[in-house]
Amino acid sequence: MSALGTKLRKAEGGRIMFWCPGCNCAHAVIVDGSRGWTFDGNEHAPTFAPSVLVCGTEQITNDEHARIMAGEKITPKQTVCHTFVRSGRIQFLNDCTHDLAGQTVDLPDWPNVKDEAGS
Ligand SMILES: [Zn+2]
Repeated sequence: MSALGTKLRKAEGGRIMFWCPGCNCAHAVIVDGSRGWTFDGNEHAPTFAPSVLVCGTEQITNDEHARIMAGEKITPKQTVCHTFVRSGRIQFLNDCTHDLAGQTVDLPDWPNVKDEAGS
């Protein structure tokens, strides 16, 4: 993973990563043409098209982990993060499951503490 301006990281597989302040984690957009996304090349105020939809499950807590180990059945919560990244701003659509649903915020700088994670 290499730096691309202060906000983006470039990863293998034609992926550009940005930091999502709604999910508090990185999202990757594959911009090598294989998935239909485009990146306008502006590392300071990037635009990705079309929208980025990330579905996942919430990480289970230590408490829930303990309950699963004790034989309880726990279904992790489903999460949805649906965003438009345009001109360095993230627009969160209303179907997001986090607190920033329906809001538009500046794309944050990539946090230093997480730089070692992944790749
Ligand atoms: Zn997100």
